[in-house]
Amino acid sequence: MTHPESERDAISPHGGVLIDLLVRGAEAERVAEEAVHFPKLTVNDRELSDLEMLTVGALSPLTGFQGEKEYRSILQTMHLPSGVPWTIPVTLSLTDEEVKRIGRADAVALASGEGAEPLAVLDVAEVYARDRESEALGVFATTDLEHPGVRALHEAGEYCVAGSVRALRLPEHVDFAAYRLTPAETRAAFRERGWRRIVGFQTRNPIHRAHEYIQKCALEIVDGLLVHPLMGATKGDDVPADVRMRCYEVLFDGYYPKDRAMISVFPAAMRYAGPKEAIWHAICRKNYGCTHFIVGRDHAGVGTYYGTYDAQKIFEKFEPEELGIAPLMFEHSFWCTRCEGMGSPKTCPHGEEDRVSLSGTKVREMLRGGERPPQEFSRPEVADILIDAMRERGDAG
Ligand SMILES: [Zn+2]
Repeated sequence: MTHPESERDAISPHGGVLIDLLVRGAEAERVAEEAVHFPKLTVNDRELSDLEMLTVGALSPLTGFQGEKEYRSILQTMHLPSGVPWTIPVTLSLTDEEVKRIGRADAVALASGEGAEPLAVLDVAEVYARDRESEALGVFATTDLEHPGVRALHEAGEYCVAGSVRALRLPEHVDFAAYRLTPAETRAAFRERGWRRIVGFQTRNPIHRAHEYIQKCALEIVDGLLVHPLMGATKGDDVPADVRMRCYEVLFDGYYPKDRAMISVFPAAMRYAGPKEAIWHAICRKNYGCTHFIVGRDHAGVGTYYGTYDAQKIFEKFEPEELGIAPLMFEHSFWCTRCEGMGSPKTCPHGEEDRVSLSGTKVREMLRGGERPPQEFSRPEVADILIDAMRERGDAG
């Protein structure tokens, strides 16, 4: 279960041990045979992402879907009962019908769809009723059904099944195979490159000049940069994963030093939990071997549910040692025509009229019309990919 080499890394996994739930060799054969006889559960997209994250140790120290004691502890204290920080429960839903079907089975086989081969066996420790209101308030700070996370919570089953996971295989992915590094693999890649201080950058958007600037500011004080785009489920109106990946690749080709920056896929699904998700994202990146984590304004937010700086302020509620990974807080940045460079309100004394800043709506409007935003806002290569993608989508319907 443990990777002894992790002891030599610059940062230990959360809780001290990098978890690996994949069973191998003769044990894998035995588990696969057993799995045939267990009741089968189909997991949804979010749960499938969580299962993959659990399997590879991205959610270390968790070894399975969480039980009620942990669930309550996280919602009330932002810590596991063991005292380790944790802000979002990782649960597996059951509908009433599934609870009846599972009955008193000791274990269930988890699969991604009807007729699909089992991905894992969950050894059932308990089944408990969800507390939707506490969960909505504890994770999303709202019970508003317009919030995508709250809505997903209400659509999920009434019950949760908890227990440890024995994984047979990772979910199959047809895309970005070369970029799907596990935490053990990113840690190995950092060691190979001799990086001791690594900053992780979470993104679910194409990278424009503002985020490039923030990443490079951070990179100036560490050894390496991990651009770690989230590629699990997102809202329907977010830019599709393949288009985003093309943007990252063209940006890396043209503007990032190859020995100082790398891209890898973060298989998580978005919750849009704002501050709670910022902590959760940081903890996961610690498991991937990052020592620093960039927290911008509105991290993992949606709509107007969270204050601009809430995702930064929540880090103050934890002792730096208990998180381990160091958050690097950044302001909104922009090109200033008088500074003749990128800056932020922290570094540029000039006014709005000297700053090249465009709203998301304005940028989308320009791209849709086949027009590149100013090169001070967006690299032309990135703009062209987005223009093409909009055209293709437009053609398709
Ligand atoms: Zn300025």
